[in-house]
Order: sequence, then C-alpha cells, then structure tokens
Amino acid sequence: AAKGDGRGVHRFYSSEMHADAEDRRQLEEDLRRALVEDGLHVVYQPVVSSITERITGYEALLRWTHPVRGAISPTLFVPIAEDTGLIGQIGDWVLRTACRDAAQWPDGVRVAVNVSPTQFANPAFPATVVSALAGAQLAPGRLELEITESVFLTDDDGTDSMFARLKTIGVRLALDDFGTGYSSLGYLKKAPFDKIKIDQSFVRGAAMKGSRNSAIIKAIVSLAEALGMDTTAEGAETQDELDLIRQLGCSHIQGYIYGRPMIAADVLAAQKLVGTAASPAGFKSS
Ligand code: C2E
Ligand code: MG
Ligand code: MG
Ligand code: MG
Repeated sequence: AAKGDGRGVHRFYSSEMHADAEDRRQLEEDLRRALVEDGLHVVYQPVVSSITERITGYEALLRWTHPVRGAISPTLFVPIAEDTGLIGQIGDWVLRTACRDAAQWPDGVRVAVNVSPTQFANPAFPATVVSALAGAQLAPGRLELEITESVFLTDDDGTDSMFARLKTIGVRLALDDFGTGYSSLGYLKKAPFDKIKIDQSFVRGAAMKGSRNSAIIKAIVSLAEALGMDTTAEGAETQDELDLIRQLGCSHIQGYIYGRPMIAADVLAAQKLVGTAASPAGFKSS
C-alpha cells in the first residue's frame, strides 16, 4: 500500500496494489480473527446457460469486510491466506457454507467453489469434500470444484490421484481462468474436467473491432467441445460481449450483464420466483 498515508486515512485495497510486509502481517492477523469472528461471508454469482438463458448454477465467492479497512478483495487476501496456510481452514469453511446454501436451491441448480492449489495438494481434501456434501445433504453432482492451471505446476502422481479421487466422489471439475497461466494442452488430455472457464481477459473487449480475443475464444470452445467439456465465458459486461459469446458457442456465461455476486438470502429469494408463471427465467425476475 501507499507509503506516507496519514493516520486514519482510508486506503482501498485492490488487486493492483500489493500489500507490503507490514501490511501482510497485520492482514494475516486480522484474517485469523475474521475466520473465528464471522468476518467472512460467501456471495454467489449466477452462471447462465447461453441457450436457455436460465440460471444453471452459482459461483461461490469469498468476501471479507475488514472492521477498519472495509471490503478487501479476495485477489489481495487469498494469496496471503495461501502463503500462511490459513487457506486450509478458510477453504473448508467456504466449501461447507456453499454446500449448505446450495442444498436449499432447486435440484438442478449447482454451486461452484474455488479450490486453491494448497487445498488441492492436501491428501485429506477428498474427505473434506465428502464431509461437506454429507453435512449439507447435497448430491455430489451439484458441486463443481474450480481449479486453476497452477495445480499442474507441482505435478507429481499426487495431482493425478487427486483428480481420480474427486471424480470417484462424483463432483464436477472446472478448469478456472483458462488461458492466463501456462496453458499447456497436455493436462486437458489427462485431467477429467467437465468445464473450461474462459478467463475474463479474453471476454472483455472481445466485441471490439480488431480484437483477437474472439478467435481465441472460438478456438477454446471448439477444443472443449471436442473433449466433451462445457465452457463458461467469464466477465461478460456488455450486450455486445454477450451477443458475441453466444455466437461463438460458449455453453455458459457468467458476468455482470446477468448478475453480480449476491448474498445467499437474495439467491434464495430469486430462486423461489423461478418457475412461477410471472418469471420463467430466473435472472429476469428481479
Ligand atoms: P475467479 O474464480 O476467476 O472468480 C471470478 C471473478 O470475476 C470474481 O471476482 C467475480 O466477481 C468477477 N467477475 C465476474 N463477472 C464479472 C464481470 O462481468 N466484470 C468484472 N469486472 N468482474 C467480474 P472476485 O469475487 O473478486 O474474486 C477474485 C478471485 O479471488 C477469484 O477469481 C478467485 O481466484 C479468488 N477467490 C474468490 N473466492 C475464493 C475462494 O473462496 N477460495 C479461493 N481459493 N479463491 C477465491
Ligand atoms: Mg472461479
Ligand atoms: Mg475465473
Ligand atoms: Mg480469477
């Protein structure tokens, strides 16, 4: 964060600003406290079928409201939680919370939960997933785990067997932020993903003239289709982006154009309206 800020001056933390060592130590301590004192909560962003335009699920996204600093972006505090090992406990809590909330939604509606590489590397993770599902009485097929390409960096047999164990449980697997990391196609060959999430950096501005993004999206979609995987385009904000993404054949869309992340109570209220004569298409109901 910026040096020389006056005492009491409100500083907004975003992904663009990195926390210095002192900030990190303080934030780590505050994060520990937030975990036990209800300072964290989960919000849910709709994922919509591009064909039916109905909500097929929601992505669970972690939020931290700091008592002094206000909202802190997960792009700032999740890396701190990863470095300090706190992500294990936090990730478990997100998983259990998301499963419990999703158990109240209609049967066809899924929940997607982000899994950090540290969680993924823990041999006890599948047991945590089973326990979260059982505790919430949620069918495994309604849980989708989002994993980023970085899990393949520490590749060993552990990664392969983790995928196999998770598939045995029956949860769905999504490859998050596709195209931003190392993007080796090798792991698409062996990892049993059900879905590829196309990073928002390809979606944003894709509709602008001369943009190469639409060619890239098109290639990812045809690759995914050939492998039998769904695709979610992340971060569609404008009607032009939406039109283009649908035309390029992405099976699902997640972006502000359809809805921002919302608290669990609002999801529940919206879902209760779905299917009633007044509002046949979920997101159009509000
Ligand atoms: P992600 O998993 O790729 O999540 C999608 C991010 O894109 C979310 O940011 C979401 O709010 C944002 N987004 C969706 N649609 C739009 C749009 O139309 N426009 C714009 N500008 N943004 C959009 P968020 O909630 O800030 O989360 C950022 C990242 O933090 C996530 O990226 C994920 O990597 C991480 N994260 C969030 N929650 C968790 C969690 O529970 N566990 C872990 N390990 N990581 C998490
Ligand atoms: Mg995600
Ligand atoms: Mg993503
Ligand atoms: Mg991301």
